[in-house]
Amino acid sequence: MKYLFGPVPSRRLGISLGVDLVPHKVCTLNCVYCEVGRTTLLTLARKEYVPIDDVIHELDNFLAQQPSLDYITFSGQGEPTLNSGLGRVIEHIKTHYPQYWVALLTNGTLFWDKALRKEVMMADVILPDLDAVSQSVFSKINRPKAGLDNRQIVEGLQALRHEFAGKILMEVFLIPGLNDTEEELKLIKKTLYELAPDSVQLNSLDRPGTESWVRPMNKERMIEVAEYLKPLKTEIVANTQNRKTIKSFDDDIQTNILKTISRRPCTDDDLCQILSLHKNELNKYLSSLLDEGRIESIQMERGLFFKLKVE
Ligand code: SF4
Repeated sequence: MKYLFGPVPSRRLGISLGVDLVPHKVCTLNCVYCEVGRTTLLTLARKEYVPIDDVIHELDNFLAQQPSLDYITFSGQGEPTLNSGLGRVIEHIKTHYPQYWVALLTNGTLFWDKALRKEVMMADVILPDLDAVSQSVFSKINRPKAGLDNRQIVEGLQALRHEFAGKILMEVFLIPGLNDTEEELKLIKKTLYELAPDSVQLNSLDRPGTESWVRPMNKERMIEVAEYLKPLKTEIVANTQNRKTIKSFDDDIQTNILKTISRRPCTDDDLCQILSLHKNELNKYLSSLLDEGRIESIQMERGLFFKLKVE
């Protein structure tokens, strides 16, 4: 599959079929914590970065097997709202496969665009990020395309909240020392309060980020932040759910390992869960890929992660 991936056990959405509408790595931001690497095309231009007819064709082929899914989720290697055909794909899914819920994982930077807000109205859940409110912290963490003003982004999110009938789950990615200062947290709390999302999800580094100096926030501090944000409904993002039985799964194990870690680095436990492999079996493949120099490992707080080796 070229534009679809998984189904994968997602930390927030259960069993989720991913739809990737932009190539690596097209985004409006270049976040220091990004798990899929540096942004190579930093842009605000919405266009058909991948052909929408081909995406729809792939979806039709896959969904014809009536897979067991919790969500079909727009996410992947960049910012999905940059694809000008996003609305067409959402409409296609909701018209032809209404049994599936549609989720949009987005950095939320483009909702000041009225046309985009109209396109996403048929989605069930939108999960935008809000890591900072002040332009200075926003610039340090998210390193936006020049001209992207955080006040305008927040206004776009407010308009979305006003017009969108589905659920909005805001995500705040916490970086110790950057957006957990008293001043920034106060701004974040006020803004979230005004946005009135259905819930706020607190996340922190779990896999290697783009910049090696980014450190995860410890659990105690995350709990403190969650307490501070009350009475907002806040949750700390939990670990991946167990994968259900997925019949339509590619049996080429090595290809699947490479495909999975090309999207985001994973531990061996993650890979075992995602690919339903016994650890011994997985280790054989990992050893040979390490020997061949196609992948590399990196130690993080949660364990040893595997990622594609960049020459
Ligand atoms: S974390 Fe998301 S928004 Fe930030 S650079 Fe990566 S893909 Fe873009």
